[in-house]
Amino acid sequence: MNVCAYCGVGCEIKAQVLGNTILSIEGDPNGVVSGGKLCVKGRFGFDFVASPSRVSGARIKKAFIDRNRDLMPIGLQNKLFLLTPIDVDFFASPIDVAIEIAAWKTRRILEQKGGKSFGFIGGARTSCESAYFFQKFAREIIGSPNIDNCARVCHSPSLAGLKRTLGEGAASVPFEDIFRAEAIVVIGSNTTEAHPIVGLKILEAARKGAFLATIDVRRVAIGRNADLEAIVPPESNLAVLNAIAREIITNDLCDLEFIAKRTVGFESYKAALLSEKPIGFGKIALYEKLTEQIPKLSRIIASKRTLFIWGLGVTEHIDGSDAVSAIANLALLSGNIGKIGAGVMPLRGQNNVQGACDMGVLPYYGAGYSQPKEIGLTSPQMFEAILSGEITALFNMGEDIARTSANLNKVISALDRLDFFCVCELFMSGAAQRADIVIGVKSAYEKRGIFINAERRVRLSKPLVESAELDDWEFFAALTAALGFDCDLDSGEAIWREVQSKAPDMFGAIGYEEASQGAQWKGERLYEERFCAKDRLARFYFAPYRRRGALCASADSSIFYLITGRVASQYNNAAQTSETPRLNARAERDILLLSPIDAKGLDPTKRIKLISRYGESAPLVFKADESIAKGTIFCSFHQARSRINYLFGSEGDSVTQTPRFKAIETKIEQV
Ligand code: SF4
Repeated sequence: MNVCAYCGVGCEIKAQVLGNTILSIEGDPNGVVSGGKLCVKGRFGFDFVASPSRVSGARIKKAFIDRNRDLMPIGLQNKLFLLTPIDVDFFASPIDVAIEIAAWKTRRILEQKGGKSFGFIGGARTSCESAYFFQKFAREIIGSPNIDNCARVCHSPSLAGLKRTLGEGAASVPFEDIFRAEAIVVIGSNTTEAHPIVGLKILEAARKGAFLATIDVRRVAIGRNADLEAIVPPESNLAVLNAIAREIITNDLCDLEFIAKRTVGFESYKAALLSEKPIGFGKIALYEKLTEQIPKLSRIIASKRTLFIWGLGVTEHIDGSDAVSAIANLALLSGNIGKIGAGVMPLRGQNNVQGACDMGVLPYYGAGYSQPKEIGLTSPQMFEAILSGEITALFNMGEDIARTSANLNKVISALDRLDFFCVCELFMSGAAQRADIVIGVKSAYEKRGIFINAERRVRLSKPLVESAELDDWEFFAALTAALGFDCDLDSGEAIWREVQSKAPDMFGAIGYEEASQGAQWKGERLYEERFCAKDRLARFYFAPYRRRGALCASADSSIFYLITGRVASQYNNAAQTSETPRLNARAERDILLLSPIDAKGLDPTKRIKLISRYGESAPLVFKADESIAKGTIFCSFHQARSRINYLFGSEGDSVTQTPRFKAIETKIEQV
């Protein structure tokens, strides 16, 4: 079995390989997820594997050697002649020398400053084996609790918002339940672009008769086929979700039997919700339709087997976790959870973001969501700690933090202050360019490893082609040995056995070979008999909406609310897709979309620069697009040269600090 290297849908693939080169990829017709279908990334996104730009072996920054040469023991100094200049900044290094240098520097910082002066930021493109080893290395070898992964910039609010209500921070149902639902409510997700195969399933289910509703700030492709398409003001998700709940309660549409048997906290939730002053959507120009749509949708949810699906349009706000809990509240109010065709489904972004969280690459959870000995810093807190000198060394695996983080001015000054920065990567990403040591590692198509998709499906993916590079975990195992520690985790299978022993309720029944078949942890459907709390009950959680932005009477009419998102042919920071010509050619640049009304009067021969409180974008090509509501603008943010991430500040979700990548206030300037 092989799974696609891109999004969290986790489609099964089959490859045609000649020698050690991938010639083509297609969907595996036996795949339970893909059923033989793939999106453009899955189908064409493999050229990057053989790209000449891959990092091979290791690279060490010349400035790092200059800074540290005289401090190294003579034996290590004598090995520096093995380094060969590769460009103006880096030496190429044999991997064993790079590991020895990394171990020497790590030991020196450990002796001088202790384990807590280290930070660890992992990614969601690496396997579970690497994710597990990474957090074990951080916690047990280095003694640092400061470990996080790139879910911090996407779905951490889904984990937090679901865990405090239902008990598990994951989808409750398999993708196949899309076809078993009577109603599907898609919130803040341009599914067709970001999770295309799930988008196809939703459209097919709607064609077969499921009621489809979308809630978004703009017209997304599936919204055009929806029975109810609610366009909502920027940053109003929680207000809309609370309004739907209010309708359900005040019109006696609740599933009271379910609530009585399976939940706690309903009465206090109800009292708090009903005491909240509702937003008068009827008085907000352009959004008056919501006054009819909200009651209609509440009746649909209360009367039909409903599946709630959402994306980053829900999570990347200051109330992302609260909005996710509000979705869970709707599922509880209507009894739409723990049943076939009813439940909650956050659409995870990268191929192993679920797995990275499950393995404990989080500051407040160990493997299997166990309590760690000590709670560490989140990645935004780590950047602060670097700037204050508290953290001086950083290990980064498989996530380009120099491009995907918010407030890049701050993040980059933090990275430039590090005494030691070590990165495992495929390409010279923004982070790799700033690193002292870069370790070239295997790509997803070159490794044997377990990946967990957005429906909790645990699968062992086998290599399509061979690679001489180390897997990420192999580097950390070698570093562990070079630091003088014993480690008996010498294979992926051995690591997985340890994962099973640490999280038996999730993975105990899924051995390495069972993972070839693709079982879901805790079974196909969660909560059929009990929720994941000691008392087996779910918990209502009320969070009040804080009126802001376009919903304030004093809203500045010269402000445009920037919504960011993805396009189907690019991935994340475009590192892999930009090395895949057939994909890159489809979306070589980020294009700014404006409503036709706002585009009127602009000079089409010029570009637009976006200016926020925190920074400026590069001049962007723009287009009028009728899917965009007046006063909002949309731009993808795949390309570093667009400088979109410089527009965001440090504000984020109040629970998880996930950056507010949606609805940032900007001014526009033609240049
Ligand atoms: S939907 Fe996601 S997993 Fe499936 S082929 Fe496309 S990118 Fe790959």
